[in-house]
Amino acid sequence: MKYYDKLIFELSRPGRKGYSLPKNEYGTDTLAALPGALKREEKAELPEVSELEVVRHYTNLSSKNFGVDTGFYPLGSCTMKYNPKINEEIAAHPGFLYLHPLQDERTVQGALEVYYNLQKILSELAGLEEFTLNPYAGAHGELTGLMIMKTYHSRRGDEKRTKVIVPNSAHGTNPASAMVAGLQVVEVKSKPNGSIDVEDLKPLLDDTVAGIMMTNPNTLGMFETDILEIARLVHEAGGLLYYDGANLNPLLGKARPGDMGFDIMHINLHKTFSTPHGGGGPGAGPVGVREGLESLLPNPKVIKREDGTFSVVNEDGALGNVSSYLGNYAVIMKAYAYILSLGRENIKNVGPMATLNANYIKENLKDDYLLPIEGVCKHEFVFDGLKDKSTGVTTLNVAKRLLDYGFHAPTIYFPLLFHESMMIEPTETESVETLDEFIEVMHRVAKEARETPELVKEAPQTTLVRKLDETTAAKNPILTYKALKQNENGSC
Ligand SMILES: *Cc1c(COP(=O)(O)O)cnc(C)c1O
Repeated sequence: MKYYDKLIFELSRPGRKGYSLPKNEYGTDTLAALPGALKREEKAELPEVSELEVVRHYTNLSSKNFGVDTGFYPLGSCTMKYNPKINEEIAAHPGFLYLHPLQDERTVQGALEVYYNLQKILSELAGLEEFTLNPYAGAHGELTGLMIMKTYHSRRGDEKRTKVIVPNSAHGTNPASAMVAGLQVVEVKSKPNGSIDVEDLKPLLDDTVAGIMMTNPNTLGMFETDILEIARLVHEAGGLLYYDGANLNPLLGKARPGDMGFDIMHINLHKTFSTPHGGGGPGAGPVGVREGLESLLPNPKVIKREDGTFSVVNEDGALGNVSSYLGNYAVIMKAYAYILSLGRENIKNVGPMATLNANYIKENLKDDYLLPIEGVCKHEFVFDGLKDKSTGVTTLNVAKRLLDYGFHAPTIYFPLLFHESMMIEPTETESVETLDEFIEVMHRVAKEARETPELVKEAPQTTLVRKLDETTAAKNPILTYKALKQNENGSC
């Protein structure tokens, strides 16, 4: 172990200093200019450290992070694909980076053109009429889409439509967004293969239904083969179909939600179209709608005038702003760069390659891991833990053991349909060598579970911190610096 492999967070020593802020350019003391009421009475409690200590601390911490750039990251439903560096370069181009949102629109025509073009491309890929790129994330897109759904019904005087049908296999954000939008969630059951049980759906379809939220392929990675029938039933009942397109990967260039009968959808640019998004951001969740609903998309909108110039407009009757200005512009740039660098021809390979990689892993591991649903999956699939349950080794243990071998764990205990869910999504950007290494390690962990189960149960053995108290970390996070009192141990 190297000396800096200890995780020491308390480095403060009284009197140490890194850098002093210079006087401002007018040579006056900035603090003196502050009104007395705004000045703090006590000194801020800040760590006292030298510049070198700060540099080493953060540089060492950064090397302890796991990311797509350091290793395989098969986190199901999160689409941790490689994010080409050219996206970053283009998004950081000074011509885009230094724009001000209130600049005269004649001076930002290029930026507006990117917004307009991406909006058009997404509409074509989704089979819908128009997109807004303003929402900041998938869940934010869901909320925006559901507000459109709700407004559509209420503008027609159909106020009693407040029910949203959500399958019990749905991503947690779906029911949460419906609640935030002021709609009521009604659950529809899934069949054992994860697809919606049409017989269970039928009795729910009355004149209080605002719509249904679905994802296809579903959370088990299986294509919903009854989708046309479901769309017909929901439309006949007067409801709308919402498509959770967080992961459009498997369909790209092959199938379109609009053609399946969906009316409203969101796409996670940060999953499907590559933007680094571990740790919660940044993201973008554009929302698309079918013809007839586009007037409801939120303001502001970017339009193309007859003379070929672009304008930002606020339309009457549209939803109000859901974000400041035109959303997370850097993420929009990255998605645009990614789509154009793949091009119309290559984008069609994303889905098939993602599907091939997922099936390759699934078929190679199903002798050791329990595969509850046989058949060809799309971009991801779910194991129900180890096949041999007699050793007491759980999905959590396997996930932690993978960390010892340098792989990020899959998504675990989601979807809730199985007790020991392990959701694996390799994405299309991984080589067969990486997939083979992962398969070999998964087999090795299964063998360890049989022969030395305690070793797996006590994993991770080699990571800097071992088993974390995740509940306390989530419920009582320590987000600000507080100097430790004397005699308290600074390491953790
Ligand atoms: C990631 C994801 C979401 C939520 O997206 P955020 O950008 O994290 O808000 C919604 N649905 C599905 C299926 C997802 O995978």
